[in-house]
Amino acid sequence: MTLCVNCGTICATNAGKTQCDGCQGTVHLSCIGISEKEATMTRSKSKSIKIVCNQCNNNMSCLKDLRTLITSLQHELSSSINQLKTEFQSQLDDINVKLTQSSQQRQSTPVLEEVVQEVLERQKRAKNIVIFNLPEQSNNSSDEIRKENDNLLVKNVLNITNPNVDFENFSVRRMGRFNESRNRPIKVFFKNESDVFSVVRSSKNLKNDLRFKNVNISFDRTPKQLELYNQLKTEMNGRIARGESNLKIRYYNGTPKIIRLN
Ligand SMILES: [Zn+2]
Ligand SMILES: [Zn+2]
Repeated sequence: MTLCVNCGTICATNAGKTQCDGCQGTVHLSCIGISEKEATMTRSKSKSIKIVCNQCNNNMSCLKDLRTLITSLQHELSSSINQLKTEFQSQLDDINVKLTQSSQQRQSTPVLEEVVQEVLERQKRAKNIVIFNLPEQSNNSSDEIRKENDNLLVKNVLNITNPNVDFENFSVRRMGRFNESRNRPIKVFFKNESDVFSVVRSSKNLKNDLRFKNVNISFDRTPKQLELYNQLKTEMNGRIARGESNLKIRYYNGTPKIIRLN
């Protein structure tokens, strides 16, 4: 005896019932609302058309709902992922822009400006020398007389350093504020850089002259160059203290270096 999966009562005869394509149980055709004729036709015509009991029909529609739900969740998820990607990318772009800006601000621009300033400053000073310890007249004399006196002093100095050269076109200027207690350095402005080199190279000649033996001549260094020079001097003194000897600071293309004399 077979029971209908739908109503639970006995399926008495062969007619009026069919097998559910879902659960394989027996079901009254009247319970699922199709006629004997429809059932026979469906069974004979096509295997792809299914006949199912009410329970299986419900399950199938649940499955359909589930599929719809999954599909909509997938869409939602992929749109969320896309949104996140966009957001992430724009934040990444922001960070990159900020990094580029800050590195430009921090390094290139100011450093480049400093370098350009320094190069211009060195070019400007390349035609000057500075003379230290030349006696200075008191504040009582007029500017003109003092300037004339300084001019004469420099001429005398250059006569001793380079007796065979006639330095015609130069001007002189005392550096800094007047101070009774010390002689201000004099800056000499030449027309040619080569004049500067020949004077500095021959400045040792002053040591043999009684009037100017305490006078020193140097290039007109920028503060940066002086700083570098002082650093090198400290380094050199450290090396001498550790036992090295015959060390000297020499200039190569305007850059000071510590060298060892053999
Ligand atoms: Zn039934
Ligand atoms: Zn079924």
